[in-house]
Amino acid sequence: MPNIRQPNELQSLTGVGPKVEQALNRLGLYSFRDLLFHLPTRYEDRTTQVDIASLKPGIPQLLEGEITSQSVVPGRRMQAVLTFEDITGAARIRLFHFSRAYLTTLKNADAVRIFGEPRINQGVTEFIHPEISVFKGEPPPLDDTLTPIYPTTDGLSQPRLRDIIRQALAKGPDFYALEELLDAAHTKNRPALWDALVALHQPAKGLPASPFVERLAFEELLAHRLLLLTRRDDYVRFQAPELKSRATEARQALLSQLPFDLTNAQQRVLSEIDQDLTRGHPMLRLLQGDVGSGKTLVAALASLPVIEAGFQVALMAPTELLSEQHAAQFSEWFRPLGISVGWLTGSMKAQPRRTILEQLSNGACQIVIGTHALFQDEIVFKRLGLAIIDEQHRFGVAQRLLLREKGQGLTPHQLIMTATPIPRTLAMTHFADLDVSTLDELPPGRTPVDTRILSQARASEITERLDTQFNEGGQAYWVCTLIEETEQSVAEAAESRTEKLRLQLPHRRIGLVHGRMKADDKSQVMMAFANGQLDLLVATTVIEVGVNVPNANIMVIENPERLGLAQLHQLRGRVGRGARVSFCMLLAGETISQQSRDRLNLLKETNDGFVLAEADLRLRGPGDVTGTRQTGELSFRVADLAEHADMLDEIAELAEMIRLEHTDIREQLIERWIGHEEHFAHV
Ligand code: ADP
Ligand code: MG
Repeated sequence: MPNIRQPNELQSLTGVGPKVEQALNRLGLYSFRDLLFHLPTRYEDRTTQVDIASLKPGIPQLLEGEITSQSVVPGRRMQAVLTFEDITGAARIRLFHFSRAYLTTLKNADAVRIFGEPRINQGVTEFIHPEISVFKGEPPPLDDTLTPIYPTTDGLSQPRLRDIIRQALAKGPDFYALEELLDAAHTKNRPALWDALVALHQPAKGLPASPFVERLAFEELLAHRLLLLTRRDDYVRFQAPELKSRATEARQALLSQLPFDLTNAQQRVLSEIDQDLTRGHPMLRLLQGDVGSGKTLVAALASLPVIEAGFQVALMAPTELLSEQHAAQFSEWFRPLGISVGWLTGSMKAQPRRTILEQLSNGACQIVIGTHALFQDEIVFKRLGLAIIDEQHRFGVAQRLLLREKGQGLTPHQLIMTATPIPRTLAMTHFADLDVSTLDELPPGRTPVDTRILSQARASEITERLDTQFNEGGQAYWVCTLIEETEQSVAEAAESRTEKLRLQLPHRRIGLVHGRMKADDKSQVMMAFANGQLDLLVATTVIEVGVNVPNANIMVIENPERLGLAQLHQLRGRVGRGARVSFCMLLAGETISQQSRDRLNLLKETNDGFVLAEADLRLRGPGDVTGTRQTGELSFRVADLAEHADMLDEIAELAEMIRLEHTDIREQLIERWIGHEEHFAHV
């Protein structure tokens, strides 16, 4: 069924003019059919009516009666105060947004229905801005289905949107000839699509029954998976550098510099990468491995055949600090091999920046390390062959396109590294466009970090403990977390904590880093800490990713309950990297909830990043694990991973078949569930 839209189709609905149409478009709604697939996020029960005498405070309820008096009260905020009466009593309604004309309409009504949450204010029952419906003559019967609440946008009220969608549904199943894109064998005994849609838009009393939800969730998850697979297929069709050699000698030379051998996991992952690199199509691989599992070395070894074949490598780190550490590490490893290592960040001075840009465009620089500044327009590579993205597992479609442009005809290979393990359900949904390699083994000789939960009140005991550790040559991090939603305030908290610690430990060398400092200043402090010139580093979560100071053995985290488990695990991973026994002290707030306490206990009990990521997924949702919460990328309308995970295998199998053999169905499903904009944004 080709979905050719009538222009302005939506304007034929009652209540849709150009303004409302624009609002609908902003929601991704362009056709009647789009409206069918715009599903409610929750419901309200307006199927029964109560009277004033039997109102319960605090829950939204529906009442019918009359407005018997009204007055406008001037003040800082002008308000209209109305008296609403039914045969059992009276209540007050207060409105802050109203017009004279509206008040007249209310006065002249024969009856009104109000829906809202009552509260008792100085003995009087009142409603603040309830939803009010006005009737001339006898009001119609009550709804016999629950009232859906839809995602909406400015300029489109909930009642208006609800009415528009009701009109779209009223056209009936024959109008849409909604194709069951999946044959019965795959929808199993699940309900028909139309019935499922009606059940979600207009559920009879009680929530929509799970078979209807499942029917839609199945299709939605399938559509999302198909979109990711399609993006992937489109991308890997390009030509990429085809590498013949595995740089055996260079690798041997690098390994012989090191005081240790590769772990089995590192070897296995490296051979997975090698296979990708010899195929002539771009690699699209996610390398996940717990903090300290040795991803950096894998990245270095993967770079060698690319460099040996005459291509360049770019390694992108999330922060300047980390890029600097990587630059130092790669220089140490690669200079003896005669490979030129460059460093490029946003805050660089003009002259060194010009030099490195030149070396990138003429090919003199073989591997460059930097922040996202690496992929700016003005940066031209001679022959970029491999891009490595460290600690940033959501490397989006747009960024991938930018990378392609840097390849001078060939599409660079991509290796994305993350220390946040991706739970299986997320790997199957949000990361279906990537191949996944896993470092499931830590190098030998690591002692697990001893994790303790202490109350804030014991902060002073900790300083004594720190002092003892410093006497023995240890070093510590002290992390201040976000207190309010601005970086300013966390920087201030870190500053005042530093002051206090300097008073308590006057004989110790204490440094401070936070996100508002200049990059140069930050890395100077960091370097001082790494070189052992500081005992204690007070920091915000800027130190979260990747930083490596093996001598540091204590991590103190204030208000850990404000962070996700995966993030706490990352922070803890900054210690336990050397020979010393290491501690992580969680300074919990005085009034944390039982749930927060349970989470912290889990952190105490396990050092396994996978277990913690699963728990984060369960407790805080996928956005927190994938880091996509802000962008809202790939959020579902119906599907809920906690509930529908057991369908994922079946969906993966079906997606594979549709992807290869039924491209028409693939397009329609994507269009139906994700919409056309996304789907033309293929890489
Ligand atoms: P991450 O995976 O968190 O990025 P790194 O790559 O920073 O971990 O490695 C952590 C530390 O482990 C580094 O000091 C690194 O040199 C060391 N390392 C890497 N591989 C091994 C190995 N096979 N055996 C021992 N130490 C290793
Ligand atoms: Mg790392």
